[in-house]
Amino acid sequence: MKQISILGSTGSIGTQALDVASRWPEEFSVCALAAGRNIDLLEQQIRAFRPQIASVMEEQGALELRRRVADTPCRVVWGQEGLEEAASFPQAEVVLNALVGVAGLRPTIWALEAGKQLALANKESLVCAGKIVMELAARKGVSILPVDSEHSAVFQSLGDHPASAVRRVLLTASGGPFFGKSWEELANAKAADALKHPNWSMGSKITVDSSTMMNKGFEVIEALWLFGLKPEQVEVVVHRESVLHSAVEFEDGCVIGQMSPPDMRLPIQYALTYPRRLPGNWPRLDLFSVGKLTFCPPDRQAFPCLALCEQAGRRGGDRGAVINAANEVAVELFLQGKIGYRQIYQLCGQALDDNEFTPSPSLEQIFEIDAQVRRQTRRLALED
Ligand code: NDP
Repeated sequence: MKQISILGSTGSIGTQALDVASRWPEEFSVCALAAGRNIDLLEQQIRAFRPQIASVMEEQGALELRRRVADTPCRVVWGQEGLEEAASFPQAEVVLNALVGVAGLRPTIWALEAGKQLALANKESLVCAGKIVMELAARKGVSILPVDSEHSAVFQSLGDHPASAVRRVLLTASGGPFFGKSWEELANAKAADALKHPNWSMGSKITVDSSTMMNKGFEVIEALWLFGLKPEQVEVVVHRESVLHSAVEFEDGCVIGQMSPPDMRLPIQYALTYPRRLPGNWPRLDLFSVGKLTFCPPDRQAFPCLALCEQAGRRGGDRGAVINAANEVAVELFLQGKIGYRQIYQLCGQALDDNEFTPSPSLEQIFEIDAQVRRQTRRLALED
């Protein structure tokens, strides 16, 4: 029985991970949960999965939850200390980090420091601090198993091949809800439209990131770190059907990819069970009903956030952290209707211009840069 800790249990990935765990009660035991503010759902999860601890963001929520689950053995903790406890919980063998945003970075570090195997959905950890995270994992001798469907596909396609056998990685992108639109046509795009993803049901931040292709840009940076690739080895390919989740082209010209219906439970389960494969009793791939698979290059003029991240991936240093901080603020303001859609890109580009390049930031410098860029971006956005 594998003991797992799930950070971000009330979110889209977290709830799907618990769905996987509930299908395999003899395989998984959930020993720790961490969430933000949704204590109603967390209470239900505590009752269903009986973790030893549950962490929430704030003391007030924790005290209320503690009162509600007083009849269970679950210990309720809160804040950064609570999150640290959940991320490094002694019994946990695998920690699934499904927190959203840079809030997931410290928990990634805590889990790795504690020597846990990390199932990583929180791509922002690698976007902001890829070098630090990968070096720490290597030093601790622990593996990071990708949960993002594209990176899971690359991981599965790589198999045992050495990095030297890889020519390039083809990272597929659905194109999002605004596929085919021009930059001019996106001027009046609204949050409700950005939140309508054609193929995946996800949290609101990543759904907006998918619509701007910032998400794909982040995934490019994530792939560079996870698989030790050079920037010119990652190519983004728009594939509207979201059936081929990514592929690897090897030196001999052979391309190996991974296909399945778009269902995050599959990469989540694989990250939790690797190297084993458990049966999945969810919809199967029916190639006859898919009919055909299409591929085209991304439109970097309509979706300039992708190019911004590709440049950041080439430059390295603090560039990912700068874009991520500006993007988190911009997406939040866009969802609140306070800024226009195209300002997301403009604010991220501005943040890169306004902040001097730090080539090799420490973890604490990354958090300082994050806080500074957030302040600047908020001020700039609301001044306009
Ligand atoms: P959601 O917004 O659905 O969920 C985020 C989770 O994090 C919630 O449980 C939320 O708690 C919790 N949370 C947020 N901030 C904090 C905080 N400061 N402290 C503690 N808990 C916090 O996000 P998703 O599940 O969509 O995405 C999670 C991560 O996985 C992201 O990095 C995303 O890019 C990545 N990912 C997601 C995919 C998807 O299909 N959704 C696919 C691939 C990657 P609460 O709701 O209780 O406040």
